[in-house]
Amino acid sequence: AKSTGNGTVRTFRPEMDGRYVAEQRLRTDLRHAIENGHLSVVYQPMYRPDGSEMECCEALVRWSHPERGWIGPNIFIPLAESMGLISDVTRFVLDKACADCAEWSGGMAVSVNLSVKDLRGGAITAMVAETLARYSLPAARLHLEVTESCFMEEPVAVSATLSRLRANGVTIAIDDFGTGFSSLSYLDSLPIDIVKIDRAFVRDIGTDPRRMKLLSGIVHLSRELDLRIVLEGVETQEQLDLVRKHNFADLVQGYIFSPPVPVDALESLRVNGVAL
Ligand code: C2E
Ligand code: CA
Ligand code: CA
Ligand code: CA
Repeated sequence: AKSTGNGTVRTFRPEMDGRYVAEQRLRTDLRHAIENGHLSVVYQPMYRPDGSEMECCEALVRWSHPERGWIGPNIFIPLAESMGLISDVTRFVLDKACADCAEWSGGMAVSVNLSVKDLRGGAITAMVAETLARYSLPAARLHLEVTESCFMEEPVAVSATLSRLRANGVTIAIDDFGTGFSSLSYLDSLPIDIVKIDRAFVRDIGTDPRRMKLLSGIVHLSRELDLRIVLEGVETQEQLDLVRKHNFADLVQGYIFSPPVPVDALESLRVNGVAL
Protein backbone atom coordinates (compact mmCIF):
# COMPACT_ATOMS: atom_id res chain seq x y z
CA ALA A 1 0.00 0.00 0.00
CA LYS A 2 1.13 3.54 -0.76
CA SER A 3 0.26 6.74 0.99
CA THR A 4 -1.16 9.28 -1.46
CA GLY A 5 -0.05 12.14 0.74
CA ASN A 6 -3.54 13.37 1.66
CA GLY A 7 -4.06 10.78 4.35
CA THR A 8 -5.80 8.11 2.24
CA VAL A 9 -4.08 4.88 1.43
CA ARG A 10 -4.35 3.39 -2.04
CA THR A 11 -3.61 -0.24 -2.57
CA PHE A 12 -1.52 -0.92 -5.61
CA ARG A 13 -2.25 -4.30 -7.08
CA PRO A 14 0.06 -5.23 -9.91
CA GLU A 15 -2.22 -8.02 -11.13
CA MET A 16 -4.92 -5.44 -11.92
CA ASP A 17 -2.47 -3.62 -14.10
CA GLY A 18 -1.51 -6.89 -15.72
CA ARG A 19 -5.08 -7.75 -16.44
CA TYR A 20 -5.69 -4.35 -18.00
CA VAL A 21 -2.66 -4.71 -20.23
CA ALA A 22 -3.74 -8.23 -21.22
CA GLU A 23 -7.21 -7.02 -22.14
CA GLN A 24 -5.85 -4.14 -24.20
CA ARG A 25 -3.56 -6.58 -25.95
CA LEU A 26 -6.49 -8.88 -26.67
CA ARG A 27 -8.43 -5.98 -28.16
CA THR A 28 -5.55 -5.06 -30.44
CA ASP A 29 -5.17 -8.69 -31.49
CA LEU A 30 -8.90 -9.03 -32.12
CA ARG A 31 -8.97 -5.97 -34.34
CA HIS A 32 -6.04 -7.42 -36.26
CA ALA A 33 -7.70 -10.85 -36.52
CA ILE A 34 -10.93 -9.37 -37.86
CA GLU A 35 -9.16 -7.11 -40.34
CA ASN A 36 -6.95 -9.93 -41.59
CA GLY A 37 -9.55 -12.67 -41.76
CA HIS A 38 -8.14 -14.81 -38.93
CA LEU A 39 -11.55 -15.89 -37.75
CA SER A 40 -13.07 -19.13 -38.88
CA VAL A 41 -16.45 -20.84 -38.80
CA VAL A 42 -17.43 -24.31 -37.58
CA TYR A 43 -20.83 -25.95 -37.97
CA GLN A 44 -22.97 -27.91 -35.56
CA PRO A 45 -25.71 -30.03 -37.12
CA MET A 46 -29.34 -30.10 -36.07
CA TYR A 47 -30.91 -33.49 -36.64
CA ARG A 48 -34.37 -34.94 -36.55
CA PRO A 49 -34.61 -36.67 -33.14
CA ASP A 50 -34.35 -40.10 -34.83
CA GLY A 51 -31.10 -39.04 -36.48
CA SER A 52 -32.53 -39.63 -39.94
CA GLU A 53 -31.89 -36.21 -41.37
CA MET A 54 -29.58 -33.26 -40.86
CA GLU A 55 -31.91 -30.37 -41.71
CA CYS A 56 -29.85 -27.42 -40.67
CA CYS A 57 -26.58 -26.52 -39.03
CA GLU A 58 -25.51 -23.60 -36.90
CA ALA A 59 -22.49 -21.50 -37.88
CA LEU A 60 -20.30 -20.80 -34.83
CA VAL A 61 -17.36 -18.43 -35.03
CA ARG A 62 -13.86 -19.33 -33.81
CA TRP A 63 -10.67 -17.36 -33.28
CA SER A 64 -7.31 -19.04 -33.47
CA HIS A 65 -4.92 -16.73 -31.63
CA PRO A 66 -1.27 -17.08 -32.71
CA GLU A 67 -0.01 -17.39 -29.09
CA ARG A 68 -3.03 -18.23 -27.00
CA GLY A 69 -4.66 -20.86 -29.18
CA TRP A 70 -8.41 -21.09 -29.60
CA ILE A 71 -10.37 -18.32 -27.94
CA GLY A 72 -14.10 -18.95 -27.57
CA PRO A 73 -16.84 -16.64 -28.79
CA ASN A 74 -18.12 -16.17 -25.26
CA ILE A 75 -14.93 -14.14 -24.68
CA PHE A 76 -14.41 -12.29 -27.94
CA ILE A 77 -17.97 -11.60 -29.10
CA PRO A 78 -18.60 -9.27 -26.12
CA LEU A 79 -15.22 -7.62 -26.85
CA ALA A 80 -16.12 -7.14 -30.51
CA GLU A 81 -19.45 -5.64 -29.44
CA SER A 82 -17.79 -3.16 -27.09
CA MET A 83 -15.24 -2.21 -29.76
CA GLY A 84 -17.89 -1.52 -32.39
CA LEU A 85 -16.59 -4.41 -34.51
CA ILE A 86 -19.48 -6.85 -34.21
CA SER A 87 -20.94 -6.01 -37.61
CA ASP A 88 -17.60 -7.02 -39.17
CA VAL A 89 -17.76 -10.36 -37.38
CA THR A 90 -21.37 -10.85 -38.45
CA ARG A 91 -20.54 -9.97 -42.06
CA PHE A 92 -17.69 -12.48 -42.07
CA VAL A 93 -19.74 -15.34 -40.56
CA LEU A 94 -22.77 -14.62 -42.74
CA ASP A 95 -20.65 -14.57 -45.88
CA LYS A 96 -18.83 -17.80 -45.06
CA ALA A 97 -22.03 -19.56 -43.97
CA CYS A 98 -23.91 -18.61 -47.14
CA ALA A 99 -20.94 -19.52 -49.37
CA ASP A 100 -20.71 -22.97 -47.75
CA CYS A 101 -24.48 -23.53 -47.68
CA ALA A 102 -24.73 -22.80 -51.41
CA GLU A 103 -22.46 -25.84 -51.96
CA TRP A 104 -24.58 -28.24 -49.93
CA SER A 105 -27.00 -30.47 -51.76
CA GLY A 106 -30.47 -31.38 -50.53
CA GLY A 107 -31.57 -27.94 -49.41
CA MET A 108 -29.95 -28.01 -45.98
CA ALA A 109 -30.26 -24.67 -44.19
CA VAL A 110 -27.61 -22.74 -42.30
CA SER A 111 -28.23 -20.75 -39.14
CA VAL A 112 -26.26 -17.60 -38.21
CA ASN A 113 -26.17 -15.83 -34.84
CA LEU A 114 -26.90 -12.10 -34.68
CA SER A 115 -26.01 -9.69 -31.92
CA VAL A 116 -28.51 -7.15 -30.60
CA LYS A 117 -26.22 -4.47 -32.06
CA ASP A 118 -26.76 -5.92 -35.55
CA LEU A 119 -30.49 -5.33 -35.20
CA ARG A 120 -30.49 -1.69 -34.15
CA GLY A 121 -30.29 -0.10 -37.56
CA GLY A 122 -31.56 -1.32 -40.89
CA ALA A 123 -28.13 -2.20 -42.31
CA ILE A 124 -28.46 -5.91 -41.59
CA THR A 125 -31.42 -6.25 -43.98
CA ALA A 126 -29.34 -5.04 -46.93
CA MET A 127 -26.32 -7.07 -45.81
CA VAL A 128 -28.40 -10.25 -45.75
CA ALA A 129 -30.02 -9.55 -49.14
CA GLU A 130 -26.62 -8.83 -50.74
CA THR A 131 -25.04 -11.94 -49.27
CA LEU A 132 -27.88 -14.22 -50.43
CA ALA A 133 -27.64 -12.70 -53.91
CA ARG A 134 -23.84 -13.13 -54.02
CA TYR A 135 -24.22 -16.90 -53.67
CA SER A 136 -27.66 -17.28 -55.31
CA LEU A 137 -28.85 -18.79 -52.06
CA PRO A 138 -32.64 -18.86 -51.57
CA ALA A 139 -33.68 -16.90 -48.46
CA ALA A 140 -35.43 -20.00 -47.12
CA ARG A 141 -32.04 -21.66 -46.62
CA LEU A 142 -30.90 -18.98 -44.17
CA HIS A 143 -31.93 -18.94 -40.53
CA LEU A 144 -30.97 -16.13 -38.17
CA GLU A 145 -30.72 -16.64 -34.40
CA VAL A 146 -31.48 -13.86 -31.96
CA THR A 147 -31.27 -14.42 -28.22
CA GLU A 148 -34.26 -13.96 -26.02
CA SER A 149 -32.36 -11.19 -24.19
CA CYS A 150 -32.16 -9.11 -27.42
CA PHE A 151 -35.93 -8.85 -27.42
CA MET A 152 -35.86 -7.70 -23.82
CA GLU A 153 -33.14 -5.10 -24.40
CA GLU A 154 -34.64 -3.48 -27.48
CA PRO A 155 -38.07 -4.93 -28.22
CA VAL A 156 -39.23 -2.35 -30.78
CA ALA A 157 -36.09 -2.07 -32.93
CA VAL A 158 -35.36 -5.80 -32.84
CA SER A 159 -38.92 -6.77 -33.78
CA ALA A 160 -39.05 -4.23 -36.61
CA THR A 161 -35.80 -5.42 -38.18
CA LEU A 162 -36.68 -9.09 -37.83
CA SER A 163 -40.10 -8.53 -39.39
CA ARG A 164 -38.39 -7.06 -42.44
CA LEU A 165 -35.95 -9.97 -42.71
CA ARG A 166 -38.81 -12.40 -42.34
CA ALA A 167 -40.83 -10.64 -45.03
CA ASN A 168 -37.84 -11.30 -47.30
CA GLY A 169 -38.16 -15.03 -46.63
CA VAL A 170 -35.51 -15.55 -43.93
CA THR A 171 -36.40 -17.84 -41.01
CA ILE A 172 -35.96 -16.39 -37.53
CA ALA A 173 -35.15 -18.38 -34.39
CA ILE A 174 -35.27 -17.19 -30.79
CA ASP A 175 -32.09 -18.50 -29.16
CA ASP A 176 -31.38 -19.53 -25.56
CA PHE A 177 -35.10 -19.51 -24.96
CA GLY A 178 -36.11 -19.68 -21.31
CA THR A 179 -32.98 -18.06 -19.90
CA GLY A 180 -34.18 -14.47 -20.09
CA PHE A 181 -36.57 -14.65 -17.14
CA SER A 182 -39.15 -12.87 -19.24
CA SER A 183 -42.86 -13.47 -19.27
CA LEU A 184 -44.04 -16.13 -21.70
CA SER A 185 -47.07 -14.08 -22.65
CA TYR A 186 -45.14 -12.12 -25.28
CA LEU A 187 -44.08 -15.21 -27.22
CA ASP A 188 -46.95 -15.08 -29.70
CA SER A 189 -46.26 -11.45 -30.59
CA LEU A 190 -42.66 -11.96 -31.75
CA PRO A 191 -41.73 -12.24 -35.44
CA ILE A 192 -40.22 -15.72 -35.08
CA ASP A 193 -40.56 -19.18 -36.60
CA ILE A 194 -38.38 -21.34 -34.37
CA VAL A 195 -37.81 -21.64 -30.64
CA LYS A 196 -34.38 -22.90 -29.58
CA ILE A 197 -34.86 -24.09 -26.03
CA ASP A 198 -31.73 -23.54 -23.94
CA ARG A 199 -29.75 -26.54 -22.80
CA ALA A 200 -30.42 -25.65 -19.16
CA PHE A 201 -33.90 -27.14 -19.64
CA VAL A 202 -32.58 -30.42 -20.99
CA ARG A 203 -29.77 -31.10 -18.56
CA ASP A 204 -31.69 -32.66 -15.67
CA ILE A 205 -34.74 -34.15 -17.39
CA GLY A 206 -33.50 -37.68 -16.69
CA THR A 207 -33.22 -37.15 -12.94
CA ASP A 208 -35.64 -34.40 -11.98
CA PRO A 209 -39.39 -34.82 -12.71
CA ARG A 210 -39.95 -31.11 -12.17
CA ARG A 211 -37.49 -30.27 -14.95
CA MET A 212 -39.41 -32.69 -17.20
CA LYS A 213 -42.62 -30.82 -16.50
CA LEU A 214 -41.01 -27.47 -17.14
CA LEU A 215 -39.62 -28.57 -20.50
CA SER A 216 -42.93 -30.21 -21.38
CA GLY A 217 -44.74 -26.94 -20.64
CA ILE A 218 -42.46 -24.86 -22.86
CA VAL A 219 -42.74 -27.42 -25.66
CA HIS A 220 -46.53 -27.50 -25.53
CA LEU A 221 -46.80 -23.74 -25.50
CA SER A 222 -44.47 -23.48 -28.50
CA ARG A 223 -46.48 -26.07 -30.40
CA GLU A 224 -49.74 -24.26 -29.66
CA LEU A 225 -48.16 -21.18 -31.25
CA ASP A 226 -47.10 -23.17 -34.34
CA LEU A 227 -43.41 -22.63 -33.66
CA ARG A 228 -40.82 -25.22 -34.60
CA ILE A 229 -38.75 -26.49 -31.69
CA VAL A 230 -35.00 -27.01 -31.57
CA LEU A 231 -33.63 -28.53 -28.40
CA GLU A 232 -30.08 -27.50 -27.55
CA GLY A 233 -27.49 -29.35 -25.53
CA VAL A 234 -28.74 -32.92 -25.75
CA GLU A 235 -25.69 -34.85 -24.55
CA THR A 236 -26.75 -38.31 -23.38
CA GLN A 237 -28.65 -41.26 -24.80
CA GLU A 238 -31.01 -41.06 -21.82
CA GLN A 239 -31.91 -37.45 -22.66
CA LEU A 240 -32.39 -38.30 -26.33
CA ASP A 241 -34.65 -41.25 -25.48
CA LEU A 242 -36.85 -38.98 -23.36
CA VAL A 243 -36.95 -36.33 -26.09
CA ARG A 244 -38.09 -38.96 -28.60
CA LYS A 245 -40.59 -40.60 -26.27
CA HIS A 246 -42.30 -37.31 -25.40
CA ASN A 247 -41.89 -35.72 -28.81
CA PHE A 248 -40.10 -32.74 -27.28
CA ALA A 249 -38.37 -31.49 -30.40
CA ASP A 250 -38.53 -31.13 -34.16
CA LEU A 251 -34.75 -30.87 -34.27
CA VAL A 252 -32.01 -31.77 -31.80
CA GLN A 253 -28.63 -30.01 -31.55
CA GLY A 254 -26.09 -31.38 -29.12
CA TYR A 255 -23.00 -33.45 -28.47
CA ILE A 256 -25.07 -36.67 -28.67
CA PHE A 257 -25.14 -36.17 -32.44
CA SER A 258 -22.09 -34.00 -33.04
CA PRO A 259 -20.02 -31.13 -31.61
CA PRO A 260 -19.36 -28.16 -33.89
CA VAL A 261 -17.04 -29.33 -36.70
CA PRO A 262 -15.13 -27.82 -39.64
CA VAL A 263 -16.98 -27.70 -42.94
CA ASP A 264 -15.28 -30.74 -44.51
CA ALA A 265 -16.11 -32.90 -41.47
CA LEU A 266 -19.71 -31.75 -41.77
CA GLU A 267 -19.80 -33.09 -45.31
CA SER A 268 -18.69 -36.54 -44.20
CA LEU A 269 -21.26 -36.52 -41.38
CA ARG A 270 -23.89 -35.72 -43.98
CA VAL A 271 -22.81 -38.49 -46.28
CA ASN A 272 -22.25 -41.17 -43.64
CA GLY A 273 -25.09 -40.23 -41.26
CA VAL A 274 -25.16 -40.90 -37.53
CA ALA A 275 -25.63 -44.26 -35.88
CA LEU A 276 -27.62 -44.09 -32.66
P1 C2E B 1 -25.19 -20.51 -28.70
O1 C2E B 1 -25.70 -19.73 -29.86
O2 C2E B 1 -26.16 -20.93 -27.68
O3 C2E B 1 -24.44 -21.76 -29.34
C1 C2E B 1 -24.44 -23.04 -28.78
C2 C2E B 1 -23.20 -23.25 -27.92
O4 C2E B 1 -23.38 -24.47 -27.18
C3 C2E B 1 -21.94 -23.46 -28.75
O5 C2E B 1 -20.84 -22.92 -28.01
C4 C2E B 1 -21.83 -24.97 -28.82
O6 C2E B 1 -20.52 -25.43 -29.02
C5 C2E B 1 -22.35 -25.36 -27.46
N1 C2E B 1 -22.92 -26.72 -27.45
C6 C2E B 1 -23.49 -27.37 -28.47
N2 C2E B 1 -23.95 -28.58 -28.11
C7 C2E B 1 -23.67 -28.71 -26.80
C8 C2E B 1 -23.92 -29.76 -25.84
O7 C2E B 1 -24.46 -30.82 -26.13
N3 C2E B 1 -23.50 -29.53 -24.57
C9 C2E B 1 -22.88 -28.37 -24.21
N4 C2E B 1 -22.50 -28.24 -22.94
N5 C2E B 1 -22.65 -27.36 -25.09
C10 C2E B 1 -23.04 -27.52 -26.37
P2 C2E B 1 -19.81 -21.90 -28.66
O8 C2E B 1 -19.52 -22.28 -30.08
O9 C2E B 1 -18.66 -21.77 -27.71
O10 C2E B 1 -20.59 -20.54 -28.72
C11 C2E B 1 -20.94 -19.86 -27.56
C12 C2E B 1 -21.84 -18.70 -27.86
O11 C2E B 1 -21.15 -17.68 -28.59
C13 C2E B 1 -23.03 -19.07 -28.75
O12 C2E B 1 -24.02 -19.68 -27.96
C14 C2E B 1 -23.42 -17.71 -29.29
O13 C2E B 1 -24.21 -17.02 -28.36
C15 C2E B 1 -22.08 -17.02 -29.42
N6 C2E B 1 -21.64 -17.07 -30.83
C16 C2E B 1 -21.01 -18.07 -31.49
N7 C2E B 1 -20.79 -17.74 -32.78
C17 C2E B 1 -21.31 -16.50 -32.94
C18 C2E B 1 -21.40 -15.58 -34.06
O14 C2E B 1 -20.97 -15.85 -35.20
N8 C2E B 1 -22.01 -14.37 -33.82
C19 C2E B 1 -22.50 -14.02 -32.60
N9 C2E B 1 -23.09 -12.81 -32.45
N10 C2E B 1 -22.45 -14.86 -31.53
C20 C2E B 1 -21.85 -16.07 -31.70
CA1 CA C 1 -27.16 -19.76 -31.36
CA1 CA D 1 -28.37 -21.21 -27.87
CA1 CA E 1 -25.96 -19.85 -25.40
